Amino acid sequence: MSNYPDLHLLIGGEKLSGGGRETEEVLDPATGETITTLSRATPDDLDRALEQAESGFAEWKNTSADKRASILMDGAKLIKERAGDIAQALTREQGKPVAEAKGETMYSAMLLEFYAGEIKRLYGRTLVRPEGSRVEVQYHPVGPVAGFSAWNFPSLNVMRKIGGPLAAGCSVIVKPSEETPAAGLMLAQALLDAGVPGSALQVVFGVPSDVSEHLLGSPIIRKVTFTGSTAVGKELSKLAAEDLKVTTMELGGHGPVLVFNDADMDKALDQMAGAKFRNAGQVCVSPTRFLVQEDVFEKFRDGFVERAEKVKVGNGFEDGTDMGPMANSRGPDGLLKKINDAKSHGAKLLTGGERIGNQGNFFAPTVLSEIPTDADIMNEEPFGPVALINPMGSEESMIAEANRLPYGLAAYAYTENPARRRRLAAQVEAGMLGINAASVSAADAPFGGVKWSGHGLEDGAEGVKACMVTKTVHEG
Ligand code: NAD
Repeated sequence: MSNYPDLHLLIGGEKLSGGGRETEEVLDPATGETITTLSRATPDDLDRALEQAESGFAEWKNTSADKRASILMDGAKLIKERAGDIAQALTREQGKPVAEAKGETMYSAMLLEFYAGEIKRLYGRTLVRPEGSRVEVQYHPVGPVAGFSAWNFPSLNVMRKIGGPLAAGCSVIVKPSEETPAAGLMLAQALLDAGVPGSALQVVFGVPSDVSEHLLGSPIIRKVTFTGSTAVGKELSKLAAEDLKVTTMELGGHGPVLVFNDADMDKALDQMAGAKFRNAGQVCVSPTRFLVQEDVFEKFRDGFVERAEKVKVGNGFEDGTDMGPMANSRGPDGLLKKINDAKSHGAKLLTGGERIGNQGNFFAPTVLSEIPTDADIMNEEPFGPVALINPMGSEESMIAEANRLPYGLAAYAYTENPARRRRLAAQVEAGMLGINAASVSAADAPFGGVKWSGHGLEDGAEGVKACMVTKTVHEG
């Protein structure tokens, strides 16, 4: 069906696997079958990676900006050339349609190109002082970075962990998800092939908490960047605090969508149904709580159900598949539990609500309506193909419901009223707000959350600055 690469650790430029190391299986989410096994790094491997990261930092930060930029541009070119192969591996291990996997990989290359361009714009500044004295504001790379990424975007998440640090002049040790290891490994290999020193970019796998405790326990690591759940983000933040390491946390969300009675309804429905079922809803910025003004509620609800029922669910390698399986068996199990809980609280199940077939992790596109706010699913991120649609009254009550949860990653609104758009921009608590727009991510735009959705930014100029420290030099 597809070529899946050999898996290994990448430490100091060396490919390491086997040798008595513990292993774990990588599963195909469409069939449940084992694709291959993955070696876990030993404590000695991690110590070596740390030593290498220290020397890699010294080498990479002293590489000229032009050279670093040109290496990263070459890396982006190689990723684009290899995007077809990377996408095949990505679909095999994660399940999403292969066209989406390729799009994600091309986007990862574009993000790297953007970061490469930013290297040449890392200016400091000189403050105005009387003759004979001088004050300079300088930006320096923070130091070796440890990155931990999730399985929902196996290539983009990894690029977000490595692109900013490398552009800033940091070395980085990244641990992609053990459930989706190949795509990130292939991205890293492209960067090494382009000339990034093997000590400046390393890839490790293992038991996640063991690896993070080991790496964060070392004073060599100066920054931690994580994509995943809020619960794990809090744990890693505590570990980082022991040594006051800098953190970037891209955590969960519970995307509210405010649909007003003056909205372009077809646009809202087409964009939001597309966004909801993309990657089987396993997207941190997925729209989840649809808050719809009463007089357009039925129209929106029925239009959404119609679109959900047209989504073609299947193997990501089959032509015409809109939505693949969920990426791991925790997905359908957790979703069923939340849907049953919602039904027991009186929610109406309008479509879906069950697994499809008896192999793999396929789940039907699901729509629930009139869900009480005390149902678990209205409070915990479902991270799956389920839309929650509730009728709402005033603008104020919709904003209050949008802000009710401790999360604040992406929020969306559909309205043709310009004054209302300004009010929403001011009042909705979110790191990103899409107004009449479903896409809230772009290489040049900062990406990140507020409240329990985390802090620190990736992408945009901010994604590089997040990997730098400021030094003010006063000369008398
Ligand atoms: P999780 O937080 O347990 O795992 C996410 C990733 O973090 C995985 O790749 C895992 O290997 C890694 N990880 C887990 N514990 C770690 C640790 N102690 N140290 C370092 N890395 C660690 O989440 P999950 O069980 O895979 O999914 C549960 C929920 O997490 C989802 O329902 C969703 O809410 C959230 N999630 C969010 C994102 C996102 O993009 N923000 C991505 C994946 C999962």
